[in-house]
Amino acid sequence: MIPKKNARILIVDDEKMNLKVLTELLREDYALVLARNGEQALKFARQKPLPDLILLDVVMPEMGGHDVIRQLKEDPLTKDIPVIFVTALSTTGDEEQGLKLGAVDYITKPFSPPIVKMRIHNHLRSVHHHRLLDRLAYLDPLTEIANRRRFDEVLVKELSRAARNSTSLSVGMVDVDFFKQYNDHYGHAMGDRALYQIASALKASLERPGDLVARYGGEEFVLILPETDTPAAGRVADKARLAIENERISHAISSASSHITVSVGTATVHFAERTGEQLRNSGAGMPCEHTVESLMIQADQHLYKAKQNGRNRVWP
Ligand code: GH3
Ligand code: MG
Ligand code: MG
Repeated sequence: MIPKKNARILIVDDEKMNLKVLTELLREDYALVLARNGEQALKFARQKPLPDLILLDVVMPEMGGHDVIRQLKEDPLTKDIPVIFVTALSTTGDEEQGLKLGAVDYITKPFSPPIVKMRIHNHLRSVHHHRLLDRLAYLDPLTEIANRRRFDEVLVKELSRAARNSTSLSVGMVDVDFFKQYNDHYGHAMGDRALYQIASALKASLERPGDLVARYGGEEFVLILPETDTPAAGRVADKARLAIENERISHAISSASSHITVSVGTATVHFAERTGEQLRNSGAGMPCEHTVESLMIQADQHLYKAKQNGRNRVWP
């Protein structure tokens, strides 16, 4: 459960009296944000930290609750915030329309305070479960860092962003050196522990909040480095490589070192500034699947080079 005071509820109602009643009912348990009209509601709904739940009045002058929820659902930032309509409209048709627009619940005025409290509590609990499941779906269970699925999604997003902003993006493919021998010598359980330690060290070595490290599979990891050109990618990758070496995980039978080391291949894509006409012809500059694939192939080829050249190094 979200610790109660940490859950934020945005309450939207044009009538002062209604805001007052709901505030008194909820302020002990939750952080509240109040809006007096639809425009304010949209503004506050987009402010970080985002609300965990929105209580929305239906009938308001200028912009009504139905228009507000439509706009919330159209915006990727706010579309997942659950909305409960709180309204004096009470025909089944009204309720049906509210739910069709994407509201999770419909409370009619006058309401019973303990029931409203319970319903809000229940919705927040399901928000919490939903987020937990989302997190788990993108987490690698062994190393507790991002998994391949998350990597694939973030890479597509970051490539589109780099194309839009005409900047560079780099990836790094990280592979543990002589890890088969490590497993054979120390056992699979020790191997698992080493992978956990490697993942943590890789993650700690990245500095920018936009950087991502994920487990690509087996003993391979991948880095996504937005707004990073080739020399910068080399520096970041070498810092990551050094971080693993400095963990000093004994590897008695590695030919690269007496400790566990990794090799890294990086690849970079540069999106040049484009003219308006080029943008129109290329579908607003969205990178194609081909870009993702060729970037990963190149990183893999560079990783192979790093291995061939003696391991425990970055290529280029
Ligand atoms: P190289 O330096 O060329 O990368 O040699 P390598 O031995 O690391 O390469 P190879 O790809 O032949 O072996 C990878 C090994 O990684 C095979 C497997 O035993 C080990 N491995 C892959 N996934 C896991 C895992 O989840 N846990 C453990 N303990 N070992 C794993
Ligand atoms: Mg491998
Ligand atoms: Mg390996």
